[in-house]
Amino acid sequence: MRINLPGTREEDCFGWAYGSVDEVGTERAGQEYLQGLLRQGRFDLERLLEEPAGVERGEWAHEHMRQVCIEMGLYVAQAHRECTEGGCPVMRAGEATYYCASHERPQQCSALGYSVHTLDSAVHTLGAATAAVPRRQLQSMARRLYRIFAHAYFHHREFFERQEAASYLYARFVRLVRKYGLLHEAQLIVPDLPTTVEPVA
Ligand SMILES: [Zn+2]
Ligand SMILES: [Zn+2]
Repeated sequence: MRINLPGTREEDCFGWAYGSVDEVGTERAGQEYLQGLLRQGRFDLERLLEEPAGVERGEWAHEHMRQVCIEMGLYVAQAHRECTEGGCPVMRAGEATYYCASHERPQQCSALGYSVHTLDSAVHTLGAATAAVPRRQLQSMARRLYRIFAHAYFHHREFFERQEAASYLYARFVRLVRKYGLLHEAQLIVPDLPTTVEPVA
C-alpha cells in the first residue's frame, strides 16, 4: 500500500518505488514512476535516465523534462532572494543577453521574469501534450531552460553551487540533453562539472 502511515519518520515517507511503469496504473504513470526513482536515489543519474521497460525514448525524455521543470520552479523561487528585478534587469549568461520568447513578440524581461515565463510556457506545453512532444520542440525548450541555469552559474555562483550540491538538478539536465541530443556541445556554456561528465559513484 502506498501511503505514509501515521508515525512514519520523515525520512521514511514516500519511500516506495515501483517495479515498472505499468504497475503504477494511473494516468500520469511515467511521472509517478520517475518520482519514485528520485525518492530512491536522486544522485544516481545513470539509473534515472535509463528508459524503463516499455517506455519509448521520446516519452522518457518528455517525462524527465517535465520533472526538471517542476523542480526548476522551486529553484527559481529560491533564486528570487538574490536574483531580483533590480539586480538582474535583463536575462544574461556571461556576456550574452537573451530575449524572452514566451510572449507574442520576444521581449526583454528581467532574469527572474524570463525564468518564470519560460518555465510557465514549458510546463504548459509538456502538460497539455497528449503524446510525447516532438524532439524539435524539446530542443528549443531545453535551449531556453538552460539559460536559467547558466544565469545562476555566471551571476549567482554561490546559489548555483548550493543548489547543485543538494539536488544535482543541473547535472541531471545536462545528462538529459546530452543523452537525447537536445543541445549541441557549443550551447553548453557552463564548464563541465564532475557530475555532468562522470557517472556518480
Ligand atoms: Zn540574476
Ligand atoms: Zn518574459
